[in-house]
Amino acid sequence: MADYNKTILVTGGAGYIGTHTVLQLLECGYRVVVVDNLDNSSPVALDRVKSLAGKRAHNLSFHEIDLRDKPALENIFSSTSFDAVIHFAGLKAVGESVEKPLLYFDNNLVGTIILLEVMAAHGCKKLVFSSSATVYGWPKEVPCTEEFPTCAMNPYGRTKLFIEEICRDIYRADSEWKIILLRYFNPVGAHPSGQIGEDPRGIPNNLMPFVQQVAVGRRPALTVFGTDYSTNDGTGVRDYIHVVDLADGHIAALNKLGEPSIGCEVYNLGTGKGTSVLEMVTAFEKSSGKKIPLNIAGRRPGDAEIVYASTEKAERELNWKAKYGIEEMCRDQWNWASQNPHGYGSPDKPLKD
Ligand code: NAD
Ligand code: UDP
Repeated sequence: MADYNKTILVTGGAGYIGTHTVLQLLECGYRVVVVDNLDNSSPVALDRVKSLAGKRAHNLSFHEIDLRDKPALENIFSSTSFDAVIHFAGLKAVGESVEKPLLYFDNNLVGTIILLEVMAAHGCKKLVFSSSATVYGWPKEVPCTEEFPTCAMNPYGRTKLFIEEICRDIYRADSEWKIILLRYFNPVGAHPSGQIGEDPRGIPNNLMPFVQQVAVGRRPALTVFGTDYSTNDGTGVRDYIHVVDLADGHIAALNKLGEPSIGCEVYNLGTGKGTSVLEMVTAFEKSSGKKIPLNIAGRRPGDAEIVYASTEKAERELNWKAKYGIEEMCRDQWNWASQNPHGYGSPDKPLKD
């Protein structure tokens, strides 16, 4: 559904989920302003989004600024009137957050508070925020519903919990706010064009970026963390969701923000299906035709055993449901990886690593 009159600010729009969402926003007819400090992303990603967007490319503009730079953010809000903000910008490496908690609290919390202050000052009170299934910790049962108790397993997760609470508080204080907190499960895959995808800095923390780097020969083997869980094959189970489905979920959330008095609501974005590490590796081997050598190791500290989403609330209230399964996720992940073995860099001039 085209919406030619709306302008959306996307923080962190140069990143993995951001680029896929920006592209879909453009395809739906929105005007998009991206704010990103490029701390974990490349400007090449937005160039690719523009070329994929074709004649809609002129509806995208980009400002390389840090969210904590309040005067710079003020300038952007003074020159453009935004209908809503989608807030992806944040640091997301769990291990790094344990080593550098203050960096995470400063970047993620201070960045968000400044964003909310500037939004309020300019009368823009519609927000979609990237939360995470990490707030369910080690769930006692599955599927996880939005009513489950929440907890933080590390400083990264704590920033998600704190921001969720801040959002609830600002809505309690001012009912003009409309806020949707999206708890993502495990985003994987890439745009089917193979032009945009995930390009993490340094050694990947997450399963599929690691598998992808093994497949292109950048790493010798995948380390499987734990084979003694009470799952079918002993490896951890997660709810992997295609990044294009996830991006769709943001369009659905924006539509929901258009309804009167939605308040501050939380929705899971997952598929509702659990897949083990070994099942994911097998699916990727099938899609890529590459063998992924494995090193079996002990459990990774802090890892949950089985986590997958209840998708009922999002299906019912956002009218959104994931369309893709792990075959499509692995196919598109490999399509991106094989076309861009060094991400947005090149073997001679790697941008990161
Ligand atoms: P990403 O690192 O690819 O994108 C985040 C973007 O934010 C990057 O481009 C980075 O440069 C930018 N950024 C960070 N701090 C900033 C700041 N202070 N000012 C301006 N820009 C800043 O990550 P992603 O995977 O696209 O994740 C997007 C959001 O979704 C994050 O908030 C993340 O915590 C959340 N999330 C991600 C996952 C996942 O597995 N990818 C799961 C759950 C939640
Ligand atoms: N995992 C693994 N090797 C890796 C990275 C992850 O075996 O190099 C496992 C991890 O133990 C978990 C699953 O893959 O069972 C998903 O991990 P990821 O970090 O991608 O997501 P999260 O644990 O944050 O949901």
